[in-house]
Amino acid sequence: NSTDRLLHVYFFPFLAHGHLIPTVDMAKLFAGRGVKTTIVTTPLNAPNFSATTTTGPDIQTRLIDFPAAEFGLPAECQNLEFISAHNKGWEGVSQFTRAAVALREPFEKLLEQDRPDCLVADMLFPWATESAAKFGIPRLIFHGTSFFALAAGDAVATHEPQNRVSSDDESFVIPGLPDEVRFTRRQLPSRQTTGNNTLTFFKRVGESSSECFGTVVNSFYELEPAYADHYRRVLGRRSWHVGPVSLCNADDRAVRGKEATIGRDECLKWLESKEPNTVVYVSFGSIVKFSAEQMREIAIGIEASECQFIWVVRECHQEDDGNNWLPEGFEDRTSGRGMIIRGWAPQVLILDHAAIGALVTHYGWNSTLEGITAGLPMVTWPVMADQFYNEKLVTEVVRIGVSVGGREWSVDGGGTVGHAAVESALRRVMSREVEEVMGMHRRAKALGEMARKAVEEGGSSYFDLSALIEELRSQT
Ligand code: UDP
Repeated sequence: NSTDRLLHVYFFPFLAHGHLIPTVDMAKLFAGRGVKTTIVTTPLNAPNFSATTTTGPDIQTRLIDFPAAEFGLPAECQNLEFISAHNKGWEGVSQFTRAAVALREPFEKLLEQDRPDCLVADMLFPWATESAAKFGIPRLIFHGTSFFALAAGDAVATHEPQNRVSSDDESFVIPGLPDEVRFTRRQLPSRQTTGNNTLTFFKRVGESSSECFGTVVNSFYELEPAYADHYRRVLGRRSWHVGPVSLCNADDRAVRGKEATIGRDECLKWLESKEPNTVVYVSFGSIVKFSAEQMREIAIGIEASECQFIWVVRECHQEDDGNNWLPEGFEDRTSGRGMIIRGWAPQVLILDHAAIGALVTHYGWNSTLEGITAGLPMVTWPVMADQFYNEKLVTEVVRIGVSVGGREWSVDGGGTVGHAAVESALRRVMSREVEEVMGMHRRAKALGEMARKAVEEGGSSYFDLSALIEELRSQT
């Protein structure tokens, strides 16, 4: 109705696909409810979602320049993907983060000009709470992770159980959570184990999170009710869950993030030639870059598993190493039963196809939730950041994950998973004979149905989004 149209919400996602994609989806959800929405980003990131925003409701884009050169980075570096693809390491991450802090001034100029009614800004812009306050605008924070990870991260920061064990491998219980969850120091995000600038930065993130108007979460209540309640009632954080946001693209599941390197029709034709539940999808998101040795082990494991597969390999693996990591003749031998997508896959389109029976994921929250939404069990392969938290939610709380195992987990990417572990995890997750795995398939399917219901009219996420829009409207 016309009152809704008066509300203007600004979205400011961090410059990484795992943050941009769900934020754009969220903007689409708001726009679909008649809210005026604007996404603020940099010139080289805008094309990553221009296809998304030209379908469906109208979304404005405002651009600000990214000061890459000022911080010693090449001009074409405007997305975190560039840092990992070009092996820039932690120094590169730090340069990138400092450049992102410098976005504050031009961003505040935009706020001053446009005076939106609300700002939804990424957690990695902790200063945005103050920026919004300057103009009397409520700031919502978007962490891009689960309630589980938010609750566990808070408990670790508050109780520091990691400081009471004597080695990185000794396990401890994270106190105060609804379930008894065991962790080791190796599995914690590096920000919770290091005592440097990163720690200070994430303290700021924590403060801005508790000081802002509230949190929007890309999750749905039925997936993690105890943790949603814990976050709200025990930690006292105002929050609204509006996910899975990937479901906002019901019309065109292929158009999401960057333009895919495989055509929609070609991809669907391949999938349609397969029986239901017989293909495993293997992908590790937009940042994780494995060594050539690890890529080789994955290839050997996939081949030995005899599974049908789609394996997404990032462009940087081609640029750096050619195909050196691929065992000779791999593609000939697996032709027909498997497909490598080099570059960017239309992930949600693929996951939602009936031919897919499971996925292998690094547990980036978006991929994890997209897998849950598609009703799929998964092989767990967390690498860094909140991914180990997400893994616990999937394997121990909702119990739809098979561990890849055989790896010395480490946040800095250390350790290699051998091909035998890859093979055995794939065989297991695709097996139709093991009762325990069949239980995972049943639970995953039920969760997928709940996810869809959550965003439909009358569903829990639909309700929360309405409540949030109402509340914002009452503030203006
Ligand atoms: N994605 C995609 N195609 C690809 C790789 C990734 O569409 O080839 C999307 C995926 O669907 C997800 C996002 O990119 O929405 C990656 O986010 P996630 O949190 O899973 O991982 P990150 O990239 O942040 O590590």
